[in-house]
Amino acid sequence: MGIHMELRLYDTLTKEKQPFRPLDPKNVRMYVCGPTVYDFAHIGNARPVIVFDVLFRLLRHLYGETHVKYVRNITDVDDKINDRAARDYPGLPLNDAIRKVTEETGKQFHADVDALRALRPSIEPRATEHIGEMREIIERLVKGGFAYVAEDHVLFSPQAMNAANKVLPRYGALSNRSLDEMIAGARVDVAPYKRDNTDFVLWKPSKPGEPSWPSPSGIKAEGRPGWHIECSAMAWKHLGEQFDIHGGGIDLVFPHHENEVAQSCCAFHQSRMANVWMHNGFLQVESEKMSKSLGNFITIRDLLADWPGEVLRLNMLKTHYRSPIDWTLKSVEESSKTLDDWYRVTADAPAGQPAASVIEPLLDDLNTPQTIAALHGLRNESGGSGGLAASLRLLGFLSESAAAWEGRKQQASGVDAGEVERLIAERTAARARKDFGESDRIRDQLAAMGVAIKDSKAGTTWEFSR
Ligand code: AMP
Ligand code: ZN
Repeated sequence: MGIHMELRLYDTLTKEKQPFRPLDPKNVRMYVCGPTVYDFAHIGNARPVIVFDVLFRLLRHLYGETHVKYVRNITDVDDKINDRAARDYPGLPLNDAIRKVTEETGKQFHADVDALRALRPSIEPRATEHIGEMREIIERLVKGGFAYVAEDHVLFSPQAMNAANKVLPRYGALSNRSLDEMIAGARVDVAPYKRDNTDFVLWKPSKPGEPSWPSPSGIKAEGRPGWHIECSAMAWKHLGEQFDIHGGGIDLVFPHHENEVAQSCCAFHQSRMANVWMHNGFLQVESEKMSKSLGNFITIRDLLADWPGEVLRLNMLKTHYRSPIDWTLKSVEESSKTLDDWYRVTADAPAGQPAASVIEPLLDDLNTPQTIAALHGLRNESGGSGGLAASLRLLGFLSESAAAWEGRKQQASGVDAGEVERLIAERTAARARKDFGESDRIRDQLAAMGVAIKDSKAGTTWEFSR
């Protein structure tokens, strides 16, 4: 089955879809900014995880499983982590408390994203294990005149970068901002150690008791890295000076990704850091911004208590990754029904190949809504074919057997399938003797148990309707 289209991806920098040409098709390289591990991940954090997992799976399908390297970091040094550690473990030395927080939160994150059926990335580097690389990049930046030491800080100067005017990109190009406007619009009460108000921190002093590491040369006291330098260091270590795809949520374009580009390109004298910049749109809940104060803050863990991860995954993919998502209970319920049907019809499917109709929309900048429409089309044309099953598996669905899926739902609903079958047999008998009062009563009883029934020539089938 021939796939005639090539992969095209929308690039935030050029603002257009462009053909994807890996630097090395034998080693396709993608970096996605991962979580800061201080608390349960929320359903908004699940969006980049799921979106870039689909891309990872697609790239593996196109280039071969062993030819794709996906790096997603874990940020384990951050003020939010320190605050949480001090609050939760007041009796422990701060560094021990921090380790507890990052280990626990990291484990929770893995359990959550495993349940969403996201493949583990090829490498999940931790910031604290890459301090040496950060120091090295910082020292190169200082040597190159792009950064300077002041009061035990190291600051990056976007103005020095734009003045250099070599192979480098323009600071502001990725986020489509002009440095002059940033200079004009910046706050006046700028930190005293900054030469210009647009300078950003590469390295800073640690407060007493906080995690600290030997500083870049020129600073005696120990210190800790700024956030942006972490990703430049981890991407460099694991993917090289230039790689293919860099991803994350749209909120990261500025300042985080703009600053990553600046650091990496100036340190390595490159015109680009990544060839394609991809950003997922934001998720809101029942038409409102998700926030703790509005009380609509939903963790992945909360949702997994009510729904299998595949339901959440499907629900996420119903919207194109660049559009905003409105996460609603109604939509999740529909996704649940769709998956019940797919599991049921593919239960005895023969082996097959993913369908071209399912893959082609993915090649068009991951058009997952179109892919899902194609899956429905396949289901309606051919029932539970091998092609449908293989297509679903490619996308991370059907990770359980149909029996396990049904069994889990029964457990969750507390309904005993044997009891359901017995009631259906009683109802069939009542209908046979034209006792419609009794047959309706049984239907209502089943409905109250969350079971919907459907009569056809072949007999009565049932499903959980929630
Ligand atoms: P954070 O831990 O806040 O740095 O976020 C981790 C990842 O989740 C980043 O790629 C963010 O862009 C992304 N993210 C955070 N909130 C949302 C949201 N509401 N919708 C979509 N993506 C989000
Ligand atoms: Zn990052």
